[in-house]
Amino acid sequence: MTTLRDSFGRDITYLRMSVTDRCDLRCNYCMAETMTFLPRKDLLTLEELDRLAASFIARGVRKIRLTGGEPLVRRGLMDLITDMSRHLKSGSLDEITLTTNATQLSKFADDLARAGVKRLNVSLDSRDPDTFAKLTRRDALEQVLNGIDAALEAGLKIKINAVALKGTNADEIPDLMEWAHSKSMDMTLIEVMPMGEIDGDRVDQYLPLTEIRDTLDAKYTLTETPFRTGGPSRYVRVQETGGLLGFITPLTNNFCAGCNRVRVTCTGQIYMCLGQSDSVDLRAAMRGENPEQALDAALDLAMINKPEKHDFNIIERGQSPAVPRHMSVTGG
Ligand code: SAM
Ligand code: SF4
Repeated sequence: MTTLRDSFGRDITYLRMSVTDRCDLRCNYCMAETMTFLPRKDLLTLEELDRLAASFIARGVRKIRLTGGEPLVRRGLMDLITDMSRHLKSGSLDEITLTTNATQLSKFADDLARAGVKRLNVSLDSRDPDTFAKLTRRDALEQVLNGIDAALEAGLKIKINAVALKGTNADEIPDLMEWAHSKSMDMTLIEVMPMGEIDGDRVDQYLPLTEIRDTLDAKYTLTETPFRTGGPSRYVRVQETGGLLGFITPLTNNFCAGCNRVRVTCTGQIYMCLGQSDSVDLRAAMRGENPEQALDAALDLAMINKPEKHDFNIIERGQSPAVPRHMSVTGG
């Protein structure tokens, strides 16, 4: 069976699979306060998610990230991960990992470690209780910090992801980084992307990482490193803390040329680019006649249609989002 290569010659070895669009937080750059979530019947079942993952693995995918929404609120997720871990044991998959807000980690950290998960990305934009509550519209900071500690105790390696937000967490970023590094967690900063309608204007949130980099350069000794995790993050070593700090800059420095990934939503739509609307319906293929052949044909079509790059920009007040769907739909 042929591996997944797009029409620009990029090999797709990394799948980000969303298992739910629901979440127990309401981060104000990600969702509106009131969201209409999908009816449960539209979601791929756990068995379909497992089959889908196996089809991607058969076509050369080596790393799968489960995401959402908040992946750990999907009922039965641990069963799915345990089932999927057979591919780790057989050597046909290198890694299963998750992006999580950590609210449920105290409950699931041990199970995740037992199922062969080694690393997690935890999204945390602030350790200040008021800022956290304002940003996520929920009072869950303590739960999150306890979840992080539980995961570290279970032996999981954590990378903290923080979206840089004007007027919200910009001043706190050095502290957040020092805290992360003091717990041997690397950290990555991300520029906010114009995805989906939110209650506010992106112009008021967008903070170019070039600005943060200047502030950090004045305070710390940052040395460029060739370190990569196979993603768009560019890392520096912070001499004072010894930790790594990554920068994901979709707006100020486009990184699409090396794209190795696709995303599947919890309803089985494959989006070949985070910032474009082209998609292919894998659920229809899986639920129709000759599902195996149909799925392969759908993946071939996805490869032909994968766009070269996104066109994100946040320039004017009142601009429409680059794509109408929220990050929680595509899976961040
Ligand atoms: N709920 C999980 C979490 O927060 O880690 C997983 C899903 S969340 C959509 C994945 C990542 O997307 C998070 O790190 C979040 O900060 C980021 N994100 C959400 N909306 C974003 C946006 N508009 N621009 C940039 N990053 C965004
Ligand atoms: Fe939920 Fe993650 Fe979006 Fe925050 S960023 S609302 S935790 S999906």
